[in-house]
Amino acid sequence: MKKIAILGSTGSIGTQTLDVVREHPDELEVVALAAGRNKDRLNAQIEEFRPKIVSLDDPHAAAELKEQWKDKGVEVLCGKEGLMAVAGMEESDIVVTAVVGMMGILPTMEAISKGKDIALANKETLVTAGHLIIPMAKRYGVRILPVDSEHSAIFQCLHGNRHQDVDKLLITASGGPFRGRKKEDLEKVTLQDALRHPNWAMGQKITIDSSTMVNKGLEVMEAHWLFDVDYDRIQVVVQPQSIIHSMVQFVDGAVLAQLGTPDMRVPIEYALFYPERRSLGGDRLDFSTLQSIQFERPDYETFHGLKLALEAGKTGGSMPTVFNAANERAVALFLKEQIRYTDIVKIIETCMDRHVLIDHPVLDDILDTEQWVYHEIERIYPF
Ligand code: NDP
Repeated sequence: MKKIAILGSTGSIGTQTLDVVREHPDELEVVALAAGRNKDRLNAQIEEFRPKIVSLDDPHAAAELKEQWKDKGVEVLCGKEGLMAVAGMEESDIVVTAVVGMMGILPTMEAISKGKDIALANKETLVTAGHLIIPMAKRYGVRILPVDSEHSAIFQCLHGNRHQDVDKLLITASGGPFRGRKKEDLEKVTLQDALRHPNWAMGQKITIDSSTMVNKGLEVMEAHWLFDVDYDRIQVVVQPQSIIHSMVQFVDGAVLAQLGTPDMRVPIEYALFYPERRSLGGDRLDFSTLQSIQFERPDYETFHGLKLALEAGKTGGSMPTVFNAANERAVALFLKEQIRYTDIVKIIETCMDRHVLIDHPVLDDILDTEQWVYHEIERIYPF
């Protein structure tokens, strides 16, 4: 039995991870779960999977859950300490990091320090602290297994190949709901428009990030750290149907691609069973009905956030943290309809312009930079 802890079990990736567990009850066991506020969903997950410990961020909801599970062999914790306890829980073999945002850094480090393999969905952790996380994982001898579909695709293409034979990583992008639009069209975008992704059903934050193509920028930074490839050898290719999940070009000119239907359970299962594969129900690609696969260049002018992401990545140091934290806060404000859609990228750019770079940020610098960004945004938009 492989024992799994899930950080963010009630979300899109968390629930799909549990779908994968349901498919393999003889091989996967859930031992710990952490969530934010969704008590009812977590409660249903406890009923079904009987983990040893769970945590909710919301203290009131956690207190109610604790009462419900008193004397029934489930320890209910809360807040940051609860999340850290789930991340470092002694019994688990692998931790699925499916919380949103930079809040994933500390529990990911906790899990690594306790020797757990990481099935990493939470890209913001690598974007902001990849230079700390990757060497730390090496030091503790743990694997960082990508869950993001593009990174899982690249990981699969790299399997059995040597690092020095890689020429380029080709990260595919659907282009999101506003592909083909011009900059001025984005002025009128509403929250409902931005939440309508053409191919994938995901959590709200990543859905907005996909619409601005900031998500693709975050993925380029994630790929840089995961696969140790320079930014000038990572290319974004728009592939609107999301059939090719990503590709690798090798030094001899050969290109390997990973294809499939848009189903996050596939990369989740690959990470959980790596290097093996297991059967998985679901749709299959039907090449007799698939008429064409299109490719386009990204429109860096309309999707200025993607351009800024690449700049932040190449600048390095604390700049990816500024990019990421500004985006996190701006998206949260947009989701509350407190700013306009186009303000998201303006906020990111303003914060990047005003930031005094820290070349080699340690953990405290990263967390301080995050706070600096939030204060800066409050000064720009004093609500
Ligand atoms: P969701 O918003 O659907 O889920 C987020 C999860 O985090 C929920 O379970 C939420 O709990 C939990 N959470 C929020 N705050 C806390 C907290 N303080 N402590 C503990 N748990 C908390 O996000 P997604 O599943 O879409 O995304 C998760 C990560 O995976 C992101 O980094 C995203 O970029 C990445 N990713 C997602 C993909 C997708 O298809 N969804 C694809 C590739 C990557 P609750 O709901 O109870 O409040």
